[in-house]
Amino acid sequence: MRQDNEHFFARRALERPLERRRELLRLGAAGLGAAGLGAAGLGAAGLRAAGVAGLAFTPGIAAAAEKVRTTARIVIAGAGAAGLAAASRLSAALDGATITLIDARRQHFYQPGFTLVGSGIKPASYVESATADYVPGNVELVEQRVAEFDPEANKVVTDGGQTFAYDFLIVATGLKLEYGLIEGMDEKLIGRDGIGSIYHSPAGAQATWQSMSAFADKGGTGIFLRPATEMKCAGAPLKYTFVTDDYLNRRGNRGRAEIVYNANNKALFSVPIVSEKVRMLFQQRGIRVNYERVLAAIEPGRRIAIFRTPTGIEEQDYDFIHVIPPMRAPEAIRNSPLPWRTGAWAAEGWMEVDKGTLRHLRYRNVFGVGDIAGVPKGKTAASVKWQVPVAVDHLVAEIASRSSDARYDGYTSCPLITRLGQAMLIEFDYENNLVPSFPGVIAPLEELWISWVMKTMALKPTYVSMLRGIA
Ligand SMILES: Cc1cc2nc3c(=O)[nH]c(=O)nc-3n(C[C@H](O)[C@H](O)[C@H](O)COP(=O)(O)OP(=O)(O)OC[C@H]3O[C@@H](n4cnc5c(N)ncnc54)[C@H](O)[C@@H]3O)c2cc1C
Repeated sequence: MRQDNEHFFARRALERPLERRRELLRLGAAGLGAAGLGAAGLGAAGLRAAGVAGLAFTPGIAAAAEKVRTTARIVIAGAGAAGLAAASRLSAALDGATITLIDARRQHFYQPGFTLVGSGIKPASYVESATADYVPGNVELVEQRVAEFDPEANKVVTDGGQTFAYDFLIVATGLKLEYGLIEGMDEKLIGRDGIGSIYHSPAGAQATWQSMSAFADKGGTGIFLRPATEMKCAGAPLKYTFVTDDYLNRRGNRGRAEIVYNANNKALFSVPIVSEKVRMLFQQRGIRVNYERVLAAIEPGRRIAIFRTPTGIEEQDYDFIHVIPPMRAPEAIRNSPLPWRTGAWAAEGWMEVDKGTLRHLRYRNVFGVGDIAGVPKGKTAASVKWQVPVAVDHLVAEIASRSSDARYDGYTSCPLITRLGQAMLIEFDYENNLVPSFPGVIAPLEELWISWVMKTMALKPTYVSMLRGIA
């Protein structure tokens, strides 16, 4: 399947996104049998157009066809989804460049799968692999952390004391989970005393599954929430609430349980129409919603969660709680000149990039892609898929002394699981428009089996192709 995909994408240059996604759908229909998806009218390739979706607009591929000769030194900080995808694309587009990828973490985590591990659908091994497996041959992987970004001097310094000077820098460090900002919370508590958190790691997601499953066996009060900061995959807190509700039902214990979802503000999701749909589904399923509740502290011994509200502090008892911590830029970024200096993203340290090009607004040779980018939407792997080709195209264009009109429109995708076997494929842009890849075929606000299949089967091959720069 992956090989077919490679050939397909290698043939394609720039086309309009929706047309490309439709073409994928047609091609997908031809390959129905292999994926066993015939009944749904969608084949493997078609499915790749969703989830990490929109495997469409791939400007970098055009550059890859004719390599640009250069001696430029390019440093990529962070070898997660965005860093690896950028390394693969640059390596394919450039001949002679020195590309250095810096990341201390040797494992690669397929984070969209954490929800599935936490739901007992996949084992932890499903989301773990080795970073080195995705690094192209002509890219040097330095297994250290960038400790200092110095864009004035065009260099980074690692925690091992090595200095790397660059002509271009791509920052792809992702974000930092700040469990410590919740008083009484410690990541070591995940899987103990009714505390879960699918965000932390594969092992954390596995431990969360055990806690949630034990809760579903007994019932009681389940508390769900999201942080007040920007966050990656803002659909995951909702998905996990739905899945827990479903397990309680399947085990005959829903009548013995109360489920409470605490929204950080006055909405359940940043896209109003999606927020309203989720509100209706929660209401139908008897999930109680509190608005403007932000988790401030937890007392594991007494199983009490303490929330900040507009009128003061509120205590909530729990038998199971799904903790999602505040998120912000890693310290090395926050301590550098790279973040926004004013506005909504300054305090959390997100990078000051142009929302269309991902190029730094003050340092023209610096780009920020993935979760670290201070842009109005994103923070999903699907966004990475659309951001990286744009940033890479601008970088390569500068080397080749041409201009680029590639733009990221805020495309973000969230296969929102609403029960085991069903999901809503939510795709949207900066303007809160729903931008379905399959208009007339997959309705974004309908709970569908095919959207579930995309999340559980098609997303990972798509994601891996993205890391390799071929999707
Ligand atoms: C529970 C969960 C569910 C999700 N579900 C979905 C989904 O359904 N669909 C979807 O599209 N997305 C989903 N996502 C989001 C998606 O996984 C992220 O948006 C994506 O991984 C972001 O890629 P990134 O490269 O920016 O960050 P990451 O993939 O997190 O990689 C960042 C890398 O930078 C490294 N790094 C950090 N600091 C430094 C430093 N100082 N120097 C060098 N390296 C550094 C880290 O070690 C890491 O390897 C989910 C995420 C989670 C946690």
